[in-house]
Amino acid sequence: MTSALALLGGTPTVTTPEPHFTWPPVTSSTVEAVRRQLGDAISIYDRSGVIADLEDALADYFGVRHVVLTSSGTTALHSLYAACGIGPGDEVIVPAYTFFATVTPLLHLGAIPVLAECDETGNLNPEDVLRRITPKTTAIMATHLWGLPADMHALKVLADEHQLLLLEDGSHAHGASIDGQRVGTFGHAAAFSMNGPKPLSAGEGGFVLTDNQDVFHRVLLHGQYNKRCRNELPTAHPLYRYAVTGMGLKFRIHPLAARIALEQLDHLNDYLDGRARVAAHLHEQLAELPGITVPQPPLRVRSAWYGLPLRYHQRELGGLPPERFHQALQAEGCHEVDRPGSTCPLNLLPLFQAPGALFPAYVGRLGYAPGDFPVAEELHRNTLKLPVWHREEDMPLVDQYIEGIRKVTEHHRDLQG
Ligand SMILES: *Cc1c(COP(=O)(O)O)cnc(C)c1O
Repeated sequence: MTSALALLGGTPTVTTPEPHFTWPPVTSSTVEAVRRQLGDAISIYDRSGVIADLEDALADYFGVRHVVLTSSGTTALHSLYAACGIGPGDEVIVPAYTFFATVTPLLHLGAIPVLAECDETGNLNPEDVLRRITPKTTAIMATHLWGLPADMHALKVLADEHQLLLLEDGSHAHGASIDGQRVGTFGHAAAFSMNGPKPLSAGEGGFVLTDNQDVFHRVLLHGQYNKRCRNELPTAHPLYRYAVTGMGLKFRIHPLAARIALEQLDHLNDYLDGRARVAAHLHEQLAELPGITVPQPPLRVRSAWYGLPLRYHQRELGGLPPERFHQALQAEGCHEVDRPGSTCPLNLLPLFQAPGALFPAYVGRLGYAPGDFPVAEELHRNTLKLPVWHREEDMPLVDQYIEGIRKVTEHHRDLQG
């Protein structure tokens, strides 16, 4: 059989040399900022220099009172949960569909993650959250999957009605907003990653946001012992006597990472505007193709476009399995089209099925299993993710990807049987 499809011997659509997407954008100004930081300081124990500069800039960007930088998003989440007083036996309702680090710190605190189902966007379904509230529930944690804000208004109503803490993992969604309000500012506190590909990148890093002074002090005690605690807790604070040791964990960010993030933050809004333009173009061009739908944020909701999730509809392409569709796109040279792996329904991961081998306190607990979250699992199986470029000069490449996707949908019959 002959076919135009590259998978069957045809010519690949995408001719642009790799890499097709790199993040964060590293320019001469990034390099110069890092070079200057190397001369200034590469270990900072207190809130000074680039640490203070970045925390102030983030506090300003988000309009919050307190920011604490951390070594990663995972450590930011760990400090956040600890600082909110979440401990043994507390139930925390978390998205079933998220990156696992949204949830794993809870296991280190002895708390019980209660997974909740998503809606068609992949974000928490507030109705399912409601069903899972018990007298032991203390908090609701929301992720903004692929940069699209979760329904924070509905979650806020739920949290307030049931006197629960509302928390956010904004790791996909720096700068995303609902009615002009940035994600990370809807609840009691929020954690963000600044890992490599995240919309605001330090290479490695994270931060906690909160307006709550007690949470702020406890975030410091949890992972920023000694100088920061001694300098920033009031001496009259009941926990001040623990300032030297804090809780004994050291989650400080590296100053070079903080410097990278500070330089990136200057450009974040431009990056987001560029991504919104590219996402709109992709939406417009891909909308009429059979087999895939491209989500559009509702009016007044701004995504950070950490990724563009394409929803695959197998039946519209004669039952072609998503694995095969993905293979065909890869063969066309659309190498950045990804089937997400580690961001998945958490009930599919051994850690949430049988945590006891790693966390003895959890022997016989959790016990999630495949099939527990049909909406999330179906969505996960049928999601193909594209990076969202932000520069005008990327448009020819974006158009080649669009052509590649169009070609595979047009020739899908060649792949049957
Ligand atoms: C990346 C990520 C994390 C973890 O952040 P790290 O900086 O990699 O530790 C947590 N939650 C979500 C949703 C993430 O995407």
